[in-house]
Parts: sequence; C-alpha cells; structure tokens
Amino acid sequence: MTTTRNLLLCSLLAIGFQQANAQVIDRTKGDPKLSEYWEPAAPVVTPGRTAQDAPSDAIMLFDGKDFSQWEGTKKKDVPWTIEDGAMVVKGGSGGIRTKRGFGDCQLHVEFRTPAEVKGEGQGRGNSGIYLMDRYELQVLDNYNNKTYVNGQAGSIYKQLPPLVNACRPPGEWQTYDIIFTAPRFHEDGRLKSQARITVIHNGVLVQNDATLWGGTEYVGSPVYKKHGDKEPIFLQDHGNPTAFRNIWIREL
Ligand code: MG
Repeated sequence: MTTTRNLLLCSLLAIGFQQANAQVIDRTKGDPKLSEYWEPAAPVVTPGRTAQDAPSDAIMLFDGKDFSQWEGTKKKDVPWTIEDGAMVVKGGSGGIRTKRGFGDCQLHVEFRTPAEVKGEGQGRGNSGIYLMDRYELQVLDNYNNKTYVNGQAGSIYKQLPPLVNACRPPGEWQTYDIIFTAPRFHEDGRLKSQARITVIHNGVLVQNDATLWGGTEYVGSPVYKKHGDKEPIFLQDHGNPTAFRNIWIREL
C-alpha cells in the first residue's frame, strides 16, 4: 500500500515538474539567438587533401626524408634505414623515440609489415607505437595469424583487445589514427585520472575511448607510475623489418 502511494506521489511530482518546466521555456516564442555564441571562434585548420595528409597545424614527425625528429635509444643516431620514403626497423639495433615530448594528441601513423611472411604469432611483423614512451599500441601482422587477443594488432598490449581485426595483408600499407588523452597525476605521484585512447585502424574503429590500466608490462599487470606531462613517442624494434611512413601529430 505504501509502495503504491509512493509511486502515485512520484508520478504527480513528475507531471508537476513537466508543467512547471513548460511554463519557463516556451519554445514557440523564445529568441533562438539567446542560445547562440560566437566567441571564442574555432581556430582555422586547413585539412590535408586526403585523410592521410597532415593538416596545417600538425607537426610532421616523419615525411620520408630524414630522422631529424628522432633519436636512437641505444645511441643518439637513429640506426634504422630509410627506403623509398619509409623508415624500416633494423632488427637488434634498438627502438627509436621522438626528440620532443607529447601529451594529449591526435597521431597518424602508417605502417607496413613485411611482405615476406616469416614466423608466427608475436613473431610476425611485430613493432609497436608507445604513447608517452610507455603505453603500447601493438603493431603486428595479424592477417590470418592468431595470437593472444590482447596482444594482436590494434590492441593496447596486454590490456585492451581491439574491437575487431582490421588488418590488411602483409606488405600493404596500413593506417592508425589515434586520439590519446594522457593520464594525470597528483604532485605526490598518486593517479588523478587514467589515460584514454581511441584508435581507428584502416578506417575501422578498434579502440573506442578505452581506458588504460597503466603502462605496458610484458610480465604482470599494468601499473601507473608518475611521469611528465609530455613524453616521447617510441617505436619498437622487435626484430622484424616493419616499416613506417607519414607520421604526423597534432597536440590537443
Ligand atoms: Mg610490439
């Protein structure tokens, strides 16, 4: 009985609220200009001719000509090669990272796993794009090549499997378009907010504003450790001659 009375009371209150609301805003008579604002204006950006081309406010990280934006991790000089406008991983020489650091960003990367298929599982065209030097978006040839799902192409390695497998065949150029929100930390090192990532692989959504659980770890659970607001982008040497080209970034 009490429940019925409460339900009735709630319904009456809801009807009353709707009527009161309707009296405040008469949408047939109001001034539409009151809900428009003009300042601050959105900055003008000239888009590329295609979705792959860098827009006018992007920082070009690799245009096929030189390694001026990069350094090696074993030695300062980048040990990888440039062939036909693409940088190619030299197995065993170590990864490379950008000289500049980045936080929140939109990043475009094109990659190509080797046409000559060698190895299987994690051994086929393996590399990786590490946001902030520690959060790995996996690069792998998973075209008819099975591995653990949270370690395949489009995954955040050992954390987040991709929504779908959108791999092109080995030897073909592929794209990653990444929107990354950096984690935030308190002064004392405690985590304020987790990192988030959206990834579009060859035009297909594979990570949808997904939340990261920490830095990439090969063994054990991911963990967050306080780091700077801006950290380099790192490309992994996993021993396979995977290639990269047309890498650009927009700071957000
Ligand atoms: Mg990798």
